[in-house]
Amino acid sequence: MSCIFCRIAFGEIPARIVYQDEQVVAFHDVSPQAPVHVLVIPRLHVDSLAATQPEHDALLGHVLGTIRKVARDLGVADNGYRTVLNTGFDGGQSVGHLHAHLLAGRPLGWPPG
Ligand code: 5GP
Ligand code: ZN
Repeated sequence: MSCIFCRIAFGEIPARIVYQDEQVVAFHDVSPQAPVHVLVIPRLHVDSLAATQPEHDALLGHVLGTIRKVARDLGVADNGYRTVLNTGFDGGQSVGHLHAHLLAGRPLGWPPG
């Protein structure tokens, strides 16, 4: 299996997991861009948001619900946070397995680069 996030989901390579269930895994980003930087992935391999279909919408909702839960659990919900899904080349996506970023713990600039 060549996909690094599939390998994390299968436990083949280590990650600092903060939450997991039958559908998703949430783990700390290896190169954090904020004091809290967590990635939420579906266990199902889908290349990107652009590759999803309407049948994935419930799963996408669960990814967002997991962001909400992890933000609460890590104590950043009150101060706020940013949720990012980089998609494709122009979107800056570097890992081809759909993932949502949870960034928090400092004020975040806008617009993004
Ligand atoms: P993207 O640029 O595709 O939106 O985000 C990919 C993210 O995955 C990056 O923030 C990068 O630091 C993170 N990442 C890449 N490889 C690994 C890894 O092996 N483990 C973890 N925990 N994060 C990774
Ligand atoms: Zn994958």
